[in-house]
Amino acid sequence: MNELAGSPQAPGVAQGSAGEAPRPLSRRANLMPRSAIREIMSLAAGRPDVIHLEVGEPDFGTPAHIVDQAFSAVRSGATRYTGNAGRPSLRAAIAARASRSGIPVAPERVIVTVGAIGALFTALMSLIDPGDEVLIPDPGWPNYESIVVLAGGVPVRYALHESAGFLPDPDALLAQVTPRTKAILVNSPGNPTGAVFPTDIVARISAIAASRGVYLISDEIYEDIVFSAARHETFLRHTPQDRLFVISGASKSYAMTGWRLGWLICPREAAAVAEKLQEPIVSCAPAPSQAAAEAALLGPQDAVEDGRRLFERRRDAFVEIIGPTGMMASHPQGAFYGLVKLPNAEPNALEFARRLLLDQGVAVVPGDTFGPSTARMVRLAFTIEDERLREGLRRIARHIAGNAA
Ligand code: PLP
Repeated sequence: MNELAGSPQAPGVAQGSAGEAPRPLSRRANLMPRSAIREIMSLAAGRPDVIHLEVGEPDFGTPAHIVDQAFSAVRSGATRYTGNAGRPSLRAAIAARASRSGIPVAPERVIVTVGAIGALFTALMSLIDPGDEVLIPDPGWPNYESIVVLAGGVPVRYALHESAGFLPDPDALLAQVTPRTKAILVNSPGNPTGAVFPTDIVARISAIAASRGVYLISDEIYEDIVFSAARHETFLRHTPQDRLFVISGASKSYAMTGWRLGWLICPREAAAVAEKLQEPIVSCAPAPSQAAAEAALLGPQDAVEDGRRLFERRRDAFVEIIGPTGMMASHPQGAFYGLVKLPNAEPNALEFARRLLLDQGVAVVPGDTFGPSTARMVRLAFTIEDERLREGLRRIARHIAGNAA
């Protein structure tokens, strides 16, 4: 036995300084990009009275009937593992909800996951071999790039132009499809853009998947949060089922972010793989959260409409206060985000966000977090109480006016 091991006189040995240097951490994990939001969040954490416009989750609690039914399910035994793919009754409820699109969805195509992010992870892990390309939106939710990299794939960005209302151009998308392309990832309603795809774009992108043999991964987590004249058009209605993965969940529609409950609707042919993948990652989604989601889907839906209306009112406040500055990059049609452009004199989004926080006490996310095309924008989330939001927006407008050049 090494006498020095565990000896209080030899802390260096206990810390591993003798012998060979430790081998490197995973290259793949190191390659995963870091988010520029971290700096703003840690800066904001140290300051009192910050108006937080950086956090993308509903600011109201889960409806009481959902909480009550989850507790009573736990008392009656919802405390054990479920099957990898989730409780059959929940899979059936999700399938019934998806079938409201007019396209029947069989419960066997539904995999219950830990959050919508678990569904994304499952979809990408089901599809990607090393070197496979996945087309992801620019700007887009940062985890798209991270998961593609973690899965060993190559993220290839496709542009969503401000001038096109951040809608994808299907012809340009088609031109980016190569023999190495495995999947196209789309997100409507979009984060951070608030864009909602009209039917013709959904149909044209679906036609690319149909003709080119690539998969479509459609992140529809904000499906219930659409405003005014806009309508959510699901890819379920347009894409052949054998190449479509739809991501959604309870987080945004039912204010259930912390329950970590999402779902994947996948091709019948991929369901066994997607189900198997739950085992080494999470085994299954938490049983209490599955019970809660079932209560959410089968119970009264007023809270969904109340949330939608609330976010629409706040979107209106965004347009009313930021619109006149001339710096509103998007007129959001859905989700709960808005993009604001930087005045010319500003060096970059991180610096703009830092100054906004230090001078005005408002926290926002630098746009480069979502991709190069929003490098000169910041994203705000409409997820705080109305009056506080209006105050935050007024401060941003003041900051822009003070820095315009
Ligand atoms: N997809 C998008 C576009 C999101 O913005 C989010 C959360 O912010 C998710 C997926 C993940 O949702 P969940 O919290 O259910 O994992």
